[in-house]
Parts: sequence; C-alpha cells; structure tokens
Amino acid sequence: MNLEEYKGIYVFIEQREGEIQNVALELLGQARKLADELNDKVYAMLLGHNIADQAQSLIARGADEVIVVDAPELAEYTTEPYTQAICQIIEDRKPDSMLIGATTLGRDLGPRVSARAATGLTADCTKIEVGKNNELLMTRPAFGGNLMATIVCKNHRPQMGTVRPGVLFAMDADESRTGEVVNYEVKFNSAKFKVKLLETVKEDTDLIDITEARILVSGGRGIGNQEGFEAMDGLADVLDAEVSASRAMVDAGYIGHERQVGQTGKTVRPDLYFAFGISGAIQHVAGMEESDLIIAVNKDKDAPIFQVADLGIVGDAKQIIKKLTQQLEK
Ligand code: FAD
Repeated sequence: MNLEEYKGIYVFIEQREGEIQNVALELLGQARKLADELNDKVYAMLLGHNIADQAQSLIARGADEVIVVDAPELAEYTTEPYTQAICQIIEDRKPDSMLIGATTLGRDLGPRVSARAATGLTADCTKIEVGKNNELLMTRPAFGGNLMATIVCKNHRPQMGTVRPGVLFAMDADESRTGEVVNYEVKFNSAKFKVKLLETVKEDTDLIDITEARILVSGGRGIGNQEGFEAMDGLADVLDAEVSASRAMVDAGYIGHERQVGQTGKTVRPDLYFAFGISGAIQHVAGMEESDLIIAVNKDKDAPIFQVADLGIVGDAKQIIKKLTQQLEK
C-alpha cells in the first residue's frame, strides 16, 4: 500500500429520516481542525435517499466537498448497502482517514467497513490529534477506563475512528465558506443484501435524549430507590430538565440504559448537571466532566465527585432534592 496516494479526511454524515445528526457536525468540526493542521481537505459523505438538499449546509459546517450518494437502497439504514457505498468511495477516492459517529448505527457500520477495507478502526475515541509523522493519534479509554490508549494506524489506510456524540465540538455555521457538492453513483451488488427492513417501530417515549438536554438531574446509589427517582422526577419537572443516572441505578433496574451517563453509557455536556448520591467513579466522570456547571450532593465529604464539582453540598440527597424542589416551586 502506497500511503502517499491516500488523501483527505472523510466524515460519515449520519442522518435519520433526512435529519443530520449532531454527531456528524461535531465530527466535521474536528475534521476541519485536523485538515487545517495537515493542509488537507474535508470530505463529507452524505448517504440516503432524497437528501441532497442537506448537502450545502455541510460546507458551512467545515466540509470542502460533499459526496452525495442518493439511492433508494440507502433510504433506510441497513448494513450491507451502506457498507458497499462507503467501500466503493474508499476504493475509488483513497481517503487518508475516515471518522464515523460511535452511535448504534456507526458502531454497526464502522467495523464492517474497516474489515472490508482491510484497515484498522479505533472505536470510541475521546481525542483525535495529529502526530509527528502526520498520522492520526486516536485516543480511547482502555482497561475499564483506568488507562488511556493512543492508537496509530501505521501501515493501512484509511485510518478509521468512531467518536461518541458529545465529545467533539461542531463549528458554528459559516455561510461564507465555499465548497463543492458532487453526486456519486454506487453500483450495488444486491445479491449480497441479506437483510430486508420490514418495519420500523419507534420507542413510545416523549423523553428528550440526555445528550441533548440542557439540564440533567442525575442520581446514583445514594438516592436509594424508586422513591428517590420519583423525587428526582419532581425536581426535573420544575427545572424543565431530564433525569439520568449512574450505572449502579441502571444495573439495579430503576432506569433504562439509554439514561446512563458514563463510559459505557452516554457522554453528556449540559449547562447544568446535578449529581445526587453519585460517588464519582472514573467511568461515570468520563461521561459528564465537560458539563458547564456541576452541582454534587453526597453525604460523604470525601466522595471523588467533589473533585469535579463546581459546587458541592455535603448532605442527604433525598432531603436536598425535596427542599430544592419546594423552593423552586415557590
Ligand atoms: P456508589 O459508588 O455506590 O456511590 C454511591 C454514593 O452515594 C456514595 O458516594 C455515597 O457516599 C453516596 N450516598 C449514599 N447515601 C447517600 C445519601 N443519603 N445522600 C447523599 N449521598 C449518599 N458507572 C457509570 O455511572 N457509568 C458508566 O458508564 C460506567 N461504566 C463502567 C464501565 C466499566 C468497564 C466498569 C468496570 C465500571 C463502570 N461503571 C460505570 C461503574 C462505576 O465504576 C461505579 O461502580 C458506578 O458509577 C457507581 O455508581 P454510584 O456512584 O451510583 O454508586
């Protein structure tokens, strides 16, 4: 493999029902920074059906070129058609690197593409930088979050990484940026399509995704039980916030995994994060330490959560939730 032939940072633009997901804009923002450092270009890969009208907005968000693959085969996400489309782009255009969101979809797509392209993939990166030989240094937690491993893809291209939503920063839309939109035609091998999507059933919920919430009321083992969660619900209602939790409470069955904050849950960056009865284990902190303002309540004054908190209250979480709710209601 002649590495010199490989150029450009390619970003997979995840869209759902035509709506571009925030993670794609975050990846574009980071790709722009890396490309400026490397004196290279950013290519956005927009796959789907009837999605071309979204292409221009990606230039304002950092792309130099948007590669639109518009095909009925890509109307709904299934692994094989998306993998075939991206692998054709790789074969044809020889990208130096490729970034994909570590969402449910990206975690399915990334490994499949990297295996077919016979290259490496660093999953769940928390940091991507440029190394001294212009290769990407992709950092991710290892050994249960006790170590950070920096991984380099030395001999193969593209250098691939998935990055979780909420870890990187999108750039503000700059309408003065210029770029090119190209339509790219893929020749699908439908004989390889083994999965047919028959129906999409949406989860019946009006809750906001915790990664999108501006205020999070989060509870750990210290809030005790269902009653504790009901009290947190009450506080969340007056604050117009969402409820989230540590893994201990998810494992105990009080709340769904989609509400878990941390290394094996979600990375959140709200304006305000309440941590009630959460000890502050490294795996939890990894998912919330970038919050703008952290208020922690714990009965143990030495709890590690106080090391990342902007405001710490030593006391009983349930009583403080009750008092706070009463005061805010007034
Ligand atoms: P505990 O650690 O038991 O802490 C409870 C806290 O509540 C204590 O600090 C205690 O002082 C306080 N408390 C008790 N009673 C009260 C009261 N009445 N009022 C106020 N405070 C009180 N954890 C996550 O959260 N997210 C993850 O994504 C995650 N991923 C993991 C991945 C791996 C590979 C591993 C090994 C672990 C992971 N964990 C994760 C688990 C993590 O290590 C901790 O075990 C977990 O975060 C502890 O949850 P907790 O703080 O609610 O409970």
